[in-house]
Amino acid sequence: MDQSAIDALRSAPIAPQSMWIGGQQVAAHDGGTFDAISPIDGQVLTQVPAGSAEDMQAAVRSARASFESGRWSNMAPAARKRIMHRIADLIEQHALELAVLGVRDNGTEISMAIKAEPGSAAATFRFYAECVDKVMGDIAPTDPSVLGLVHREAVGVVGAIVPWNFPLMIGAWKIAPALAMGNSVVLKPAEVASLSLLRLTELCHEAGLPEGVLNVVTGKGSIVGSALAHDMDVDVLTFTGSGPTGRRLLEASAASNMKPCYLELGGKSPNIIFADAPDLDKAVAVSAAAIFRNSGQVCVAGSRLLVQASIYDEVVEKLSQQASTMKVGDPLDMTTQAGAVSSDVQLAQNLAHVEAALSDGARLATGGQRLLQETGGYYMQPTVFSDVTGDMKLAQEEVFGPVLGVIRFEDEAEAVRLANATIYGLAAGVWTSDLGRAHRMVKAVKAGVVHVNTYGGPDITVPLSGHKQSGNGSDKSIYALEKFSKLKTAWIQL
Ligand code: ADP
Repeated sequence: MDQSAIDALRSAPIAPQSMWIGGQQVAAHDGGTFDAISPIDGQVLTQVPAGSAEDMQAAVRSARASFESGRWSNMAPAARKRIMHRIADLIEQHALELAVLGVRDNGTEISMAIKAEPGSAAATFRFYAECVDKVMGDIAPTDPSVLGLVHREAVGVVGAIVPWNFPLMIGAWKIAPALAMGNSVVLKPAEVASLSLLRLTELCHEAGLPEGVLNVVTGKGSIVGSALAHDMDVDVLTFTGSGPTGRRLLEASAASNMKPCYLELGGKSPNIIFADAPDLDKAVAVSAAAIFRNSGQVCVAGSRLLVQASIYDEVVEKLSQQASTMKVGDPLDMTTQAGAVSSDVQLAQNLAHVEAALSDGARLATGGQRLLQETGGYYMQPTVFSDVTGDMKLAQEEVFGPVLGVIRFEDEAEAVRLANATIYGLAAGVWTSDLGRAHRMVKAVKAGVVHVNTYGGPDITVPLSGHKQSGNGSDKSIYALEKFSKLKTAWIQL
């Protein structure tokens, strides 16, 4: 990646945005807009339509009409696959543009965004493009007098609500498998990060996706998100975001057509370092990255560090050293290790968590302050608290910021007990050179993904599934297709 290419894009004007309904770029029907604010400097980037419930209903109608028309759902699989590969090609061709646009909108450091956003979105479209003509139905082993065929059908209209931390990556996790199964989609981006998804939608149309198959309505979650969740004509809802919003979506489903509602919610993921970790310096460096990259705004962030007592002080010291020397700042500088916090609201929440940890009796080892206020942007020091105990707020509640609590444990049994002592079960990490212990921990820790001697990096081939209150269903991998297809049996007397 070339810094001068990034710099050439960093101040490019961004035209006022439009939503996508029925293959057309449209304004909100009442003309409402809101400002997209850059967390880099607090300045207005452009205007985005503030959609209404009526706009959402129009988008769902358009998705339904496209689905019933068969222009995508009944397109020959080879042709559907070609379009999805073409989308991946266009994402790759526009990777830097998409990454910079997204970073200006949400503040992720570009070194991470380039891989995690266009890089993974393209890989996701390719993976599901290949599923289009490879995922089959079944013939059941019935009595020879009948033929039992199990068809796998599209569900129809998929509603997708996505967050602001990795809009392209998470958006692609929802859109690509839904399209691969032949569905039509209505997407609701997060208010604070709509821009890269609107550009992706433009590229999808350029690639030949028929009109009305991917519709995007921007605006407030409580208005357009809620309208999507309550719509009687949405067949499946897929969501990544916070627990309270997930709960509202389940209520909306119950109050409307009982649509299946797949949730990927928060985490308080335990990252567990045993004294027999193979390389302690590596464990500390990766553990720091696991909480501080993207300023901690990662659903699988290793936000609770559990450290065995005999190495506790050493780890806290090394970690504090790492945290205090990380380069925080301009997310469009390739050497930056942690960019901006996505919004002033999120920054205020992070600082409130610091106050709460102090009043709960945790010891501030490093960080805890806002940074670079003179830029007008929202930056925060990587923050480490030691002497954290399992009952503290910092050990129980998701911060979604660069704030790490370090907890001490004596033995494997205590590590397991502490690891599982939250409402969440999204991710975990285990550092040990004992293979038996690694396998025991993978089994004992309640989480959708357990990393061993690493943290982060699982690719599109494997699922991400929330356990406990971290969600249900799976994003990524072949398993995600289950959410977007339904089974139908044909029972034929021969
Ligand atoms: P966060 O607190 O991380 O912003 P949210 O769960 O509030 O997480 O947001 C994730 C997504 O959910 C965003 O697209 C947001 O607009 C949407 N959202 C927020 N509130 C609602 C709601 N009441 N109904 C539907 N969607 C919502």
